[in-house]
Amino acid sequence: MNESEKRPVGPHTYRDYVPTMPILKWPCDELTKVAEEFDFQNDEYDVEFIAAELMSNLDASEAGVGLAATQLGIRRRVIAVKQYLGRRGRGQGIINTVLVNPLIEEYTKQVAHAEEGCLSLPGVYATVARPAGISVSYVDAVTREVHEFSCKGPLARVIQHEIDHLDGKMFFNRLDQDAANRVLRKYFSPEDAAVDVENKIAAQKEKRRRSKRRRR
Ligand SMILES: [Zn+2]
Repeated sequence: MNESEKRPVGPHTYRDYVPTMPILKWPCDELTKVAEEFDFQNDEYDVEFIAAELMSNLDASEAGVGLAATQLGIRRRVIAVKQYLGRRGRGQGIINTVLVNPLIEEYTKQVAHAEEGCLSLPGVYATVARPAGISVSYVDAVTREVHEFSCKGPLARVIQHEIDHLDGKMFFNRLDQDAANRVLRKYFSPEDAAVDVENKIAAQKEKRRRSKRRRR
């Protein structure tokens, strides 16, 4: 192995790579499948192929912060996450990190609530409760070294969301039935959701009108 082959999979290795596996959209049976561990000894997939597909797809999506191999129809436990290095929002300092066979070793008891979206469910968002922090181990795609790190905030959320994909779970599976139905209704019939918004605006207008009348 020469020096360049030893370099970990990173932006330099896929800069000119054009993804061949499009991101699957809900509803899709593949998105409900549990992925198998990647087998470094004799997997039918090349790990660098999976990494390049994940990273190039993720890079091409403005809004995406993470992607799981199952979202490309590759039933292997591999995810990519955007990691912000240094100050956020500057464009630079973002790297796509590939985690092979990621495993959550520990969760914090503290729970955090934040809005999530999904590249397989474009256009809809919902607040999801998850452990605020995790400790995760994974295998580096190229060096095959096992790493472990702790994180909290958005990165901990993204990693949990992506590992859920490896277990065939969408983010709405983390919501109660009513909230999940709302998400899916919005997704399948954005017109209905728009009518909902119209109705709410109309109801609020009516309230305002009444309260004005009372004040007179
Ligand atoms: Zn997702």
